[in-house]
Amino acid sequence: SRLVEVMEVASSLSLLTGVAVLQSLRGVVPSSNDASVTGSPKRTLVVLGSGWGAISVLKNINTSLYNVIVVSPRDHFLFTPMLPSCTVGTLRLTSITEPLTSLLQDKIPPTAIHQAECSSIDSKAKKLVIRGTTSANKDIQTELPYDDLVVAVGATNQFFGLQGVKQYGCFLKEAEDAKKVFTKVSDALEQVRFNKNLTPEERSRLLHFTVVGGGPTGMEFAAEMRDYIDGDIRRMFPELYKEVRITLIEAAPKVLPMFTKPLVQYTEGLFKDINIKIMTQALVKDVNEKELIIQKTNADGSKTIENIPYGLLVWAAGITARDLTRQLMSTIPEQSGARRGLIIDEFFRVKGMPDTYAIGDCAFSGLPATAQVAHQQGDWLAANLNKSGKASALKHRIEVMEKQLGEKKTDQEFSTLKKELANIQLEAFQYNHQGAMAYVGHEKAIADLKVPYLNKIIPLHGTWGNTFWRLAYLYQLVSGRSQFLVLFDWLKARLFGRFDAKI
Ligand code: FAD
Repeated sequence: SRLVEVMEVASSLSLLTGVAVLQSLRGVVPSSNDASVTGSPKRTLVVLGSGWGAISVLKNINTSLYNVIVVSPRDHFLFTPMLPSCTVGTLRLTSITEPLTSLLQDKIPPTAIHQAECSSIDSKAKKLVIRGTTSANKDIQTELPYDDLVVAVGATNQFFGLQGVKQYGCFLKEAEDAKKVFTKVSDALEQVRFNKNLTPEERSRLLHFTVVGGGPTGMEFAAEMRDYIDGDIRRMFPELYKEVRITLIEAAPKVLPMFTKPLVQYTEGLFKDINIKIMTQALVKDVNEKELIIQKTNADGSKTIENIPYGLLVWAAGITARDLTRQLMSTIPEQSGARRGLIIDEFFRVKGMPDTYAIGDCAFSGLPATAQVAHQQGDWLAANLNKSGKASALKHRIEVMEKQLGEKKTDQEFSTLKKELANIQLEAFQYNHQGAMAYVGHEKAIADLKVPYLNKIIPLHGTWGNTFWRLAYLYQLVSGRSQFLVLFDWLKARLFGRFDAKI
């Protein structure tokens, strides 16, 4: 949903050809002293992550200026805005994931890929500790030196200390999460169909699907689930489908805070019509295996506690810093004031960590934690890193020439190089908000579109919104393969029903 930077993403990510290299954890790591095509020593740039921010850096970085190494536990890029569609089998996960090897196959010299996670960073010694995450490399630990480091590790789910959420809830962050949601839903339906001894209360509980979080992810999941109930569940479980309920729980007074008022009102009205209950001002205080314990703030300001039995709990109530980010926030003195992410400047430089940059959800820039922001930051950072790389190469050549020319220093090429170097300026990041979109169910979507040059936001909803939403996402998908598969999945779902998302 929501991001509308149609032109940029497709043009930067979709046309990919060439040769790729996959190096194992024990594979060859380029040394920081390799001679580059520029004749100067190449710096080693390590990029942590394979999400929105990292991919934008990797696609745009000039590998003739840097030895580039990616470290990520995920060997693929996940198009997160379409993950809710995979929970009910509207789309298959393969359609919205792209292997790094194929995304980076046009990089010459190639990018080294380590499927591993970084467990610690020593910014003084400029070394990382990385641990393998494949079955072959699991738990093998190794050190990785770097000259420049990009931290783009994203964020993790926020539980607000509620252990029950971790234990009994489902999430929407990684590809496997979608499969888990689907399995829970089909298990609940099968259980109700086959177990004739269930009490009416237990039956009602199992068929109550709840989602916590009224942001775009929670709303889109509820919408996809409604479509699934009214389409496939109605066909496959005609005796039960009317009993299936969806409730969306939100602690704030309103849902979809990033959308304009008319679109929020439109969505609330639509949800009412299509039978999705929205509970606002409802704070989850505790979660056990079968119930959510909610504190509801009433219209008169009084508070009441309610127990809500559930069969499915999808938790989409926000994000928090990952362990690695927390570790840096707590050990680097300049980061002592950091709360939501690493403190960075307008060039993404991490305060207190030389030659280290942070982008996306792991950095605190005052901007929302969205793919739109992470993607723009990645593009911008790559452009600046390319400039720095070029500046280093020029400096090196100037030094070499200075030695050759001695006192004379009047050579034409020498002064051209000096001018070229002086013209290289790094640019401070400027965010360009393109708008927001969300699918809201029954073939309807909402979009706040920013009109270029007029600096105006135009709200779009309903069928037109849906058409725009589909076209925009098709365009933004990172490869022709994904575009084809998503189109095929939509068509197939329309003609023959959804996929079994467990398979
Ligand atoms: P991520 O994309 O999360 O990537 C982080 C990467 O770091 C991953 O590859 C991860 O495996 C890797 N990693 C984690 N730990 C380590 C480690 N220790 N070492 C190395 N690598 C590590 N935003 C929008 O703008 N529009 C939308 O419509 C939208 N819809 C969304 C729907 C869903 C279901 C979700 C979950 C998010 C959605 N977002 C959307 C938000 C958007 O996906 C995030 O803001 C974006 O992914 C942030 O990018 P990132 O690069 O910071 O992190």
